[in-house]
Amino acid sequence: GGIRMMMPLQPDATIGIIGAGQLGKMLAQSAQKMGYRIATYDPNPKACAFPVSNWHQVGSFDDEESLIDFSKKVDVVTYEFENINAQILKTLHSEVNLPQGTDLLLTSQDRVLEKKWLNEMSVATAPFWEIRSFEDLEAALIESGFPAILKTTRFGYDGKGQIVIYNQEQLSDDRDSLAQMLQSACILEGYCAFDKEVSVMVARDQYGTIETFPISRNIHRKGILFSSQVPAELSSTAEEKIQKIAKKIAKKANLIGVLGIEFFLLSKGEVVVNEVAPRPHNSGHYTIEACNVSQFDQHILAVSGHKLSPIKLLKPALMFNILGQDVKHVSHIWEKYPEAVVHLYQKGEAKKNRKMGHLTFVDNYFEKYDSLRKNLENSNE
Ligand code: ADP
Ligand code: MG
Repeated sequence: GGIRMMMPLQPDATIGIIGAGQLGKMLAQSAQKMGYRIATYDPNPKACAFPVSNWHQVGSFDDEESLIDFSKKVDVVTYEFENINAQILKTLHSEVNLPQGTDLLLTSQDRVLEKKWLNEMSVATAPFWEIRSFEDLEAALIESGFPAILKTTRFGYDGKGQIVIYNQEQLSDDRDSLAQMLQSACILEGYCAFDKEVSVMVARDQYGTIETFPISRNIHRKGILFSSQVPAELSSTAEEKIQKIAKKIAKKANLIGVLGIEFFLLSKGEVVVNEVAPRPHNSGHYTIEACNVSQFDQHILAVSGHKLSPIKLLKPALMFNILGQDVKHVSHIWEKYPEAVVHLYQKGEAKKNRKMGHLTFVDNYFEKYDSLRKNLENSNE
């Protein structure tokens, strides 16, 4: 869609957020601090952003009529949920104020489109093959070698919808689960034997200003973000490459708001983009305590038509996610680490691997938290 300039929203204007999970909640809290009203939309009547919204609407993400109705009652619309269907987005874009537009969202919803788009702007990704059938998979594996990762092209998150294929035998051993996945369009990715995983949050406003948050070094467990550390302690060449790629992507995308970019750093110094998420990102939660302006603040500034705030890192930070199985440790954490800034999202049932909260340490002494790291690594049901 075209670029439409907007006047900065006046105090008391209402920002509508599609999706009312923890990202919606933290966006809402940030917007309210700036004097805006917040409306949220989610199919889950117990969505955790509802209690902090000025008003909310329960409705399906596939219900065009309900989404349009919601969007017409607010002054500007943004989203924290990525899987809104293309047709509904197009209608929304033409009928309501959606400064983020639809192009970037539509591209990032689909792992194949996303990688093609990145490669077209000369940004490296893992090698990939589009997979529609078992025959496609067998043929692609000959080129990729083992291990390789089969993913659904759409709707994956927190490592869901992915199978690592280690060897030929697995094709018959896991035939049922592979066949199940192949019911949907899939992508096979060559395995990136990375040294480090890092991410960067990049923000852009309607005036074309681009700001990047400090790069965070991330550790995932079973495909789910476990910890983020800032500074990421990279070489200055790696830092520069990453910043440059982030700015290039933000510009090419005509980004308005924030975008999370996940990277693999390979041993030879090669920088590969894993994926992008056109919204606040789990690895950027540290910005709430460690920066002068958070990823949520920047997003709200951009979508409400303001200029971005120049970013400063005030303190190093270490963030751990609190998953369902970790909730039982929280009272001990409060007790033993009074300096921990604990966030609990009030999502209800503490299901295994469900993101229930996170905690941030703003401190230089990361080693001090090694035993906590081990506890969290080992926590089960
Ligand atoms: P999600 O949408 O669930 O975040 P990702 O594609 O980011 O999916 O995969 C989750 C994690 O799995 C990554 O952060 C990384 O640790 C691992 N992973 C994914 N793709 C690859 C790959 N091609 N090579 C190596 N590791 C990968
Ligand atoms: Mg990811």
